[in-house]
Amino acid sequence: MDHAEFRQRGRQMVDYIADYMESLHLRRVTPDIEPGYLRDLIPYDPPEDSDTWEGIMKDLEKKIMPGMVHWQHPQFHAYFPAGNSYPSILADMLSGLCVGFSWAASPACTELETIVLDWLGKMIGLPDQFLSFTENSVGGGVIQTSASECVLVSLLAARAQAIRKLKQQHPTVEEGVLLSKLMAYCSKEAHSCVEKAAMISFVKLRILEPDERFSLRGATLKEAMDEDRALGLVPFFVSTTLGTTSCCSFDRLDEVGPVCRAADVWLHVDSAYAGNAFICPEFKPLMKGIEYAMSFNMNPNKWMLVNFDCSTMWVRDRFKLTQALVVDPLYLQHNYSDKSIDYRHWGIPLSRRFRSLKLWFVIRSYGVEGLRRYIREHVRLAKRFSTFVEANHKFELMNEVKLGLVCFRLRGTNALNQKLLTNINASGKLHMVPASMNDVFVIRFCVCAQNATEKDILIVKFAEDLLAEEKLPLENK
Ligand code: PLP
Repeated sequence: MDHAEFRQRGRQMVDYIADYMESLHLRRVTPDIEPGYLRDLIPYDPPEDSDTWEGIMKDLEKKIMPGMVHWQHPQFHAYFPAGNSYPSILADMLSGLCVGFSWAASPACTELETIVLDWLGKMIGLPDQFLSFTENSVGGGVIQTSASECVLVSLLAARAQAIRKLKQQHPTVEEGVLLSKLMAYCSKEAHSCVEKAAMISFVKLRILEPDERFSLRGATLKEAMDEDRALGLVPFFVSTTLGTTSCCSFDRLDEVGPVCRAADVWLHVDSAYAGNAFICPEFKPLMKGIEYAMSFNMNPNKWMLVNFDCSTMWVRDRFKLTQALVVDPLYLQHNYSDKSIDYRHWGIPLSRRFRSLKLWFVIRSYGVEGLRRYIREHVRLAKRFSTFVEANHKFELMNEVKLGLVCFRLRGTNALNQKLLTNINASGKLHMVPASMNDVFVIRFCVCAQNATEKDILIVKFAEDLLAEEKLPLENK
């Protein structure tokens, strides 16, 4: 493909994406296919000779699209949003133009990331110590691929710090033995990525019971740590969540934080979804206690109109992070190492895409106020739906709706609700996923589409029709 053809195909691709977005509502949200559907549609061997562009695009529409879940569809209400926007898509086209693992490998890539992470940190109201350009600060932000990676990297930093401290106290004891003493904590409501991070890092994880509002409380944590210390174990890391995946509950940082601080334990805050809402002053109280955190992560690729991947993370002390991750072969060294940031020391991969570009394009294109409007509209729609649920005797509302997630169920058994959700998803008209709240099967309805409107909230009408069709029994109030 030469420059001229690239211009032509590029315009066609932009048209394809715009047509896709404009006509998305006409497609099924979820595909009507079985695993292995593509096996017979794509040749088993790669082509020896070049194919035509038209041929590839034709197959895209005929073979690939029927196997897609349309995350931007107005009736996609599953998981959390996979935010997207045209400025982000366009900026993302540029992000592969360079590889920015060190300052020298791409100075703009490094410096824009530092600056934009400071912007975003200020937008959500992180304490100054997390920003790079605050006087005397040793903190700063970095973009990782996913929230799971942010949690893992935080845990690795905490683990390195804890082992170092233990080694000073017990210089003759093997690191492996010290490692076996370490204990990490999270709530039962934490995302499974915490369990995975502990598994990868070979540390024990104690999963604690949240309170009746699905929040981890300080007293629960303290009691667990005291018990573990009495057994000779060493608490070193607590992963809390602001905006849990199942029901968008919030751990009590204001209680958990002082417990961690008193015990010199690393407090991580995972706010993959909800963190985006903190750009609105009215939601900032939800991060009460953030001043106790050592590290914090949120995903602009969930709820800030930035497409995947873009998971942002901040640390209070960048040296505590990099101490766990630095390796420094000659071929990666450069003359400005002392004066600059090398993000290769802040995460697991070496090579990194220029992801701050899309964040920069989006923040500039919408302005902070435009992004606040988008978040507020989603919250308004979620509240509107929850009011409807509460007013309808067939349903019960299961969570405190603080942001864009509503957990609800039909009054009746878990099996009844499971059947309702299966029917809804099989119809291809709506897509939602379930969650378990204290072993009760609930349906999660999340406002996801960029330009979601009230008319997109079809769920109640839909459930009623299905119930009538299925003649499912209902327990009325
Ligand atoms: N943490 C929370 C609170 C989440 O809700 C999620 C996913 O929804 C994750 C972590 C994992 O996110 P990622 O896919 O970016 O690893």
